Amino acid sequence: MSKTQFVSKRAPVFKDIPDEKWNDWRWQLGHRLNTIEEFEKVLKLTESEKKALNAPGLFRVDITPYFVSLINPEDPFDPIRKQVIPTSEELQPFTGEMEDSLAEDMHSPVPGLVHRYPDRVLMLITNTCASYCRYCTRARLVGDPHQSFSNEDFEAQLEYLRNTPQVRDVLISGGDPLTLAPRVLERVLNSLREIEHIEIIRIGSRVPVFMPQRVTDELCELLQNYHPLWLNIHVNHPNEITHELALACDKLTRAGIPLGNQSVLLAGVNDDPLLMRQLVRDLVRIRVRPYYIYQCDLVHGAGHFRTPVAKGLEIMEALRGHTSGFANPTYVVDAPGGGGKIPLMPNYMIAQSDNAVVLRNFEGFITTYEQPTNYTRPAKSLTDPYKDLGNEGQEGVLGLLQGKQVSIKPEGFDQLRGRGGVKHRLRADESKWKALGKGDQSQN
Ligand SMILES: *Cc1c(COP(=O)(O)O)cnc(C)c1O
Repeated sequence: MSKTQFVSKRAPVFKDIPDEKWNDWRWQLGHRLNTIEEFEKVLKLTESEKKALNAPGLFRVDITPYFVSLINPEDPFDPIRKQVIPTSEELQPFTGEMEDSLAEDMHSPVPGLVHRYPDRVLMLITNTCASYCRYCTRARLVGDPHQSFSNEDFEAQLEYLRNTPQVRDVLISGGDPLTLAPRVLERVLNSLREIEHIEIIRIGSRVPVFMPQRVTDELCELLQNYHPLWLNIHVNHPNEITHELALACDKLTRAGIPLGNQSVLLAGVNDDPLLMRQLVRDLVRIRVRPYYIYQCDLVHGAGHFRTPVAKGLEIMEALRGHTSGFANPTYVVDAPGGGGKIPLMPNYMIAQSDNAVVLRNFEGFITTYEQPTNYTRPAKSLTDPYKDLGNEGQEGVLGLLQGKQVSIKPEGFDQLRGRGGVKHRLRADESKWKALGKGDQSQN
């Protein structure tokens, strides 16, 4: 495998399109497929796919000629086909589904800005993508041309960011920011760079995967004016790694942009340990570092893509130790209801005592690590130079470890069964805590 070159593909129906057009992202965008008649020219639709494409209120369908060409037309189970062509399964509600499963709207101080973590925000500035993933977690916002973000929304987002100095990292994501007109994108990046406390800008984009033609020299020149700028792409299956994607990633990397990848764990697409091992190996070959594997969200239309969490753990078991450390992503469940990303991995610690931990490796080799018996905290706190760095928001479990509080209670805990009478005392200096304006965190 390592010697094979990544291939280019073009469906027979496009064979007479001149290369200048095929390689022009505007042509790709303008010739996206979305009707039964168009798809039938490329592949034979199943009854289930036709039913979905005829269904009223279906989440938007659009596929670039480039991406549709990666589908093996003979295979109704093709992993790329499943990601972008709807089936009637999409119309099935399932237990547990939610419209806004990550409660993003609840965490939006202004439209399109999600501030869930202390030092970074997610910024949504368009609801357009180059093609539409059938399992889209933001189907409620994305794809609807009548529900676009306005200029006032954008100004309100900037105003919030200017007034919120703890935000040092802005992640612009989907809708896909790289579908914006170059001048609009430039304006967005310029406006963010004018805010001094924003240290890094991140872009989440599937454009390099759906439409690698968009990654032109001009785009790379534009982006590299806004460093430090990081970019995450979204590849789910090795078949998406083509010669064109490899070229696009090479250009972005040469522009100094570190590339990562986010995959979504999808039944029938990539729920296989060996396939995922191949995917991460192919990604690092094109200098893209696997970043996250997401458990599929509880979003309407995606029920048939869901896997048990055990599948994700099995995949992680197949990666750690079996392939390069930097090819190992973090497997996360984005907590329904808005808890944010929660990382999961197999257990490598088998047992622990005061003086030893018992560990196992990827092969099942079991060993012990003797703990030091003479460990003491540093005489001079190492925290001093950093203590003024605002740690806004919840101290979280770290706060429990540091003795700043004793417990974290669910809402309404104190009202339950008369438990409320006694207030836990904070182990740390309570008045100092209050002076910091943190209040009693256990109430949150
Ligand atoms: C994923 C996400 C981020 C970025 O999280 P990282 O773990 O730093 O990549 C930020 N905000 C929101 C709302 C997110 O969903």
